Amino acid sequence: MSALEIVVYPNDILEKECSKVTVFNLRLSKLLTQMYETMVEADGVGLAAPQIGICEQIAIVDIGDDHGRIDLINPSILEMQGEQIGPEGCLSFPGLFGEVKRADYIKVRAQNKRGKIYTLEAEGFLARAIQHEIDHLHGVLFTAKVTRYYENDEIEG
Ligand SMILES: [Zn+2]
Repeated sequence: MSALEIVVYPNDILEKECSKVTVFNLRLSKLLTQMYETMVEADGVGLAAPQIGICEQIAIVDIGDDHGRIDLINPSILEMQGEQIGPEGCLSFPGLFGEVKRADYIKVRAQNKRGKIYTLEAEGFLARAIQHEIDHLHGVLFTAKVTRYYENDEIEG
């Protein structure tokens, strides 16, 4: 399998409410693998299905920590605490980085690729990445939450 094409803004699919996954089959498992390969190739830490043209509540996150790849199917945030303000980017907005306020701690409920419900607690950057991807599944883009954009030299510097 090879990497998929990433949908770049503007595109209607990026701003739609995605439908819930009801069938947990081999197609879903393969899709997650392909999404992961696509994310790694693009050097990202998360990818949501609408970003590859599929409007379903499927997202993956891997920030390179002990959690490894986190599959988020039909995820919902149960609890949010605190706040963090930091830089954020998105594979659908190449080269764009802005400051976004997010909850510092979240508790999430989601399903894995077999449909099993699990809960996950996350803090800091992992919490940020998960919130960003869950927003995608509801058509919410990080640009709607940016309080200021960074200049290129701030990011590279
Ligand atoms: Zn994104």
